[in-house]
Amino acid sequence: MWAQLHKLKPRSASDEDLARCHGTRLVDHIYEMCEREERFLDADTVICSESYEVARMAAGAAVVAVDAVMAGDVTNAFALVRPPGHHAMPDRAMGFCLFNNAAIAARYAQAHYGLQRVLIIDWDVHHGNGTQDIFYRDPSVYYFSTHQYPYYPGTGSKGETGDGKGEGFTLNIPLSEGTSARSHREAFNRALNLIEEKLPPDLVIISAGFDSRRGDPLGGLLLEDSDFAEMTKEAMDLADKYAAGRIVSVLEGGYNLQTLGETVRTHIATLAGLSPKTAKQSADGE
Ligand SMILES: [Zn+2]
Repeated sequence: MWAQLHKLKPRSASDEDLARCHGTRLVDHIYEMCEREERFLDADTVICSESYEVARMAAGAAVVAVDAVMAGDVTNAFALVRPPGHHAMPDRAMGFCLFNNAAIAARYAQAHYGLQRVLIIDWDVHHGNGTQDIFYRDPSVYYFSTHQYPYYPGTGSKGETGDGKGEGFTLNIPLSEGTSARSHREAFNRALNLIEEKLPPDLVIISAGFDSRRGDPLGGLLLEDSDFAEMTKEAMDLADKYAAGRIVSVLEGGYNLQTLGETVRTHIATLAGLSPKTAKQSADGE
């Protein structure tokens, strides 16, 4: 499949890109911690001397993906990056996340292309507290998350729906551990229908965490690769309807290294319109 994809070169996110979502204090803090070769930003968030530059590249990759879909070079793009981003708050790195890649991409799309209605779909097993926080009072970016609850980082209850002008533009679907893939998918699909009425998007960004797959060591949800393929298709249908198909998908979590590669491959194959089915997947299904 690799040979059939159009590969884009990431760039380092600019100060301006970062500043749309993060205070300079956080940016400087991460820079200094990496310079000093510190090992932890918090109890979960391990760094090394190169993490600052790698995190800037991850955010920049999401920005490059926005440019590619907005230019029409491609219909959709996947940013295959780490570290993930959705826990990163304006002034705090946490939960493996340094800079909020998906949020930076959304703000960039608005600043450079004047988009009014960006939808972020977050299907990581964890709630994207950072992304929610950044757009909580903002009706121009709709944040939608399905996640295990109660669970890290503790946010993401049903009652968190936005504030001020942003009221009604945050949608949380908390799911208890062990929720069946079928109920999970139905809740996801119902939510997309609601969102379509509230904010038909001119760009869809996916915070594509695959720790919501069955067997992830950090998660207790039960999605299979075929479920991610279906959810990807549903997001594509929505994007086709309102956003000329434009989707920027950004890797978030996913910690089962035996399965992550195949799940990501299935997601990309679906985005690319290639058959997501493989012999391995059929075998798993039986
Ligand atoms: Zn996660």
